[in-house]
Amino acid sequence: MSPIRVGLVGIGEIARVQHIPTLAADGDFRLTAMASRSKPAVPDGVALFATQGEMIASGLVDAVAICTPPQVRYGFARDALLAGMHVLMEKPPAQTVAEVDDLARLAGTVGRTLFATWHSMHSAAVVPARRILAERGAVAMRILWREDVHKFHPGVDWFWQPGGMGVFDPGVNALSIVVGCLPEPIFVREARFRVMPGAHTPITAALELATPTHGSGYSALFDWDHKGEETWSIDWTLSDGGLLSLGGGGRSLALDGRTVVDAPDREYPGLYRRFAELVRDGASDAETRPLQLAADAFSLARIERVPG
Ligand code: NAP
Repeated sequence: MSPIRVGLVGIGEIARVQHIPTLAADGDFRLTAMASRSKPAVPDGVALFATQGEMIASGLVDAVAICTPPQVRYGFARDALLAGMHVLMEKPPAQTVAEVDDLARLAGTVGRTLFATWHSMHSAAVVPARRILAERGAVAMRILWREDVHKFHPGVDWFWQPGGMGVFDPGVNALSIVVGCLPEPIFVREARFRVMPGAHTPITAALELATPTHGSGYSALFDWDHKGEETWSIDWTLSDGGLLSLGGGGRSLALDGRTVVDAPDREYPGLYRRFAELVRDGASDAETRPLQLAADAFSLARIERVPG
C-alpha cells in the first residue's frame, strides 16, 4: 500500500517535537503538508498552507493530524472528515465528550477513520501493568503527577482558558494510563482545585477516586506548580499486599521492587502504528473515558483561589 499522506494542523511544541520526526521515520505515512497561522520551519518537500481548508483543497493529503489546543479541535476535525480526510487528534481530543461523540458518529457516516489519541496509553508499562492488575487485583492506587508548568510551557496561555484544562492537560495522561490498565471502571468522588488569579482552570487538582468495588483508597494529585524534580508515577497496592509502581509517565514499571519494564519513549511511533491499523481496517478509536474523568472532576470541584 502507498503511504498515507498526512497534513499537520497547528505547528506548536508537540507537532515539532513528536509528530514531524515520528512521521519522517514511519514508512506507512508521508508528511506532505502543514497548515499554520504562523511561519514555522518546514521540512524539505512539505507544502505549507495558511489554513487547513487550503491544505485539504490542494489534494496533497489523505489524513490530517490536528495538534492545536483542544478548544478549536472539533471544528478542524469536523471540516476534515466532511472533506473525506482520516483524522488523528492530539489529546485531549476536544473540549467536551459530546464533541468527540459527534465526531465519532460523523466518521462512521462518512466512512473515514477518527483516532482520538492518548499518547500515554502507548507507553511501555501499560500492557504489562494491565496484565498484572488483572491477575492480582488492586485495593489502592495513588497517582502523583507533578511538574512545573513554567519550565515546560513558558508563556503559554490557552491552558488557563475555558477548555484548556489547566493541570489536567498533563493529568489526563495519568487518567488515560489508568483507564488503559484498570480491569474495572473508575469514578471521581471528590475534587479540590487551586486556581490562580485570571485563570479559569486549576494549577493543582487533588482527586478522590473510586471503583465499583473500592469506595476509597484511590486518589490522584496533579500539581503544575511543583519546583522540584518531576514525578509522573502511579502506585498500586495489590490485593495480595504486593506493590506495583509505574514511573516516568509509563516508561518504567516495578513489581515488589523488581524492574519489569525500563524502556525508552516510543509512545508516538506506537500511536501512529495504531492509526495505520485503524485506517487499514476502516475503523475508528474515539476513547473518551480520560476526558470524561477530567470533566467529572470539573463538575465536582471545590475551588480555592490562590495568589499568582
Ligand atoms: P502549543 O505549543 O501552544 O502549539 C499549539 C499550536 O496550535 C500553536 O502553535 C498554533 O500553531 C496552533 N494554535 C494555537 N491556537 C490556535 C487557535 N486558536 N486556532 C488554531 N490554531 C491554534 O501547544 P502544544 O504543546 O503543541 O500542545 C498542543 C496539543 O498537544 C495540546 O492538546 C496538548 O495537550 C498536546 N500535547 C502536548 C505535549 C507537549 O509536551 N507539548 C505532549 C503531548 C500532547 P500555528 O501557529 O502553526 O497555527
